[in-house]
Amino acid sequence: MDFQEVEGGPFLLFHCGTGSTLTYAARNFLAGMMAELEPRLTLGERAFELAVRCVDRLEDSGLFNGGKGAIPQSDGVVRRDAGGMDGKSLDALGISQVRGIPSMARLVAALMGQSAHVHLSGSMVERWALRHGWLSELPEEKEDPTFMWETLPGLAGEGTVGCVVRDCQGDLAAVTSTGGIGRMWPGRIGDSPVVGGGFYADNERGAISMTGVGEAILKAGGGGTLLALLASTSKENRDTILSGFLDRIQARFSGEAGCVGADRNGLPFAAHSTSRMVHGFLRKGHHHVSDQASGYRGLS
Ligand code: ASP
Repeated sequence: MDFQEVEGGPFLLFHCGTGSTLTYAARNFLAGMMAELEPRLTLGERAFELAVRCVDRLEDSGLFNGGKGAIPQSDGVVRRDAGGMDGKSLDALGISQVRGIPSMARLVAALMGQSAHVHLSGSMVERWALRHGWLSELPEEKEDPTFMWETLPGLAGEGTVGCVVRDCQGDLAAVTSTGGIGRMWPGRIGDSPVVGGGFYADNERGAISMTGVGEAILKAGGGGTLLALLASTSKENRDTILSGFLDRIQARFSGEAGCVGADRNGLPFAAHSTSRMVHGFLRKGHHHVSDQASGYRGLS
C-alpha cells in the first residue's frame, strides 16, 4: 500500500481480513465508505466513534465475514464476536457469541461503560439487547441434529473487519468484528473480541486490529503483545518486528495473520503473512485501498 509519510495528522486504517481479495463490489463499496468518512475524520470526530462507524459500515455491507456477512458455526448458527477499545479513556469491551445482531460494533459502543467488565458473552448480551430494544425477541435455541462434536482442523477465516483511528486530538482507538473461522465448533471464540488479542488501544502504546487464525494469534500473545514489542523498538526496526511477529505466529502456531495499527508515535502500519489482505488507508485528501499481492508492509 502506498502509505505516504504521516506525521501528526489524523488517519484511519481498516482491514477486511486475511485472505480477502479486492473484488469489484468491494472496491466500489470501500471507495464510497472512505469518501463518507473523510470529512468526519478531518472535522474532528473522536477516534473511538469513528472506528465504530467504520466497522459498522463494513458489517452492514454484507461483503465481509462480520455483521451481515458473518459465517455460521458448525451447527449452522451465526454467532458474532466483536470488541473495541478507546485509547484515551482506556474503556474496552469484547462481546462474543451473540446471535441475531449484525451491528456488533454499535452494540460494543452501546454496552461500553455500562459495567466495569471487559468481556460479555452469549445469551446475557442477547438479554441486554432485548431489554434495550436491539432485539424484538430472543433468538431461538436450535439444535442441529447432524452436528458432530468431532475434531476437524479449523480453517482460516476470511473477511473479518477491523479499524484503527488516530483522531485530530492524537487519540487512538481500535475496533474488530468477525463471524469467526471455518469449521469452528459452536461456542468457539477467537482473538477478535478479546482485549489485547484481536484489538487493543492505549494512547501511550498504540492501537491495533488483528485478523487471521484466532487460536494462533492468541497463543502468540495477541495484538497487545505486538504493540508492546513495537513500543520498545526504534522506528527503523518496525518492519522487522512486524514481520517477525507474524512469521512466529505462522511458524510456531501454524496460523496466518495480519493487522492494521498505529504505533505509540501515531505512525500507521499494516502487515500480513497471507498473500492478500484487503486494507485501506484514509487521511485528508488521500484514500488508498489495496489487497497487496504478497508480503509484509510496515509504514514509516
Ligand atoms: N481472527 C478471526 C477469528 O479467529 C478470524 C479472522 O480474522 O479471519 O475468529
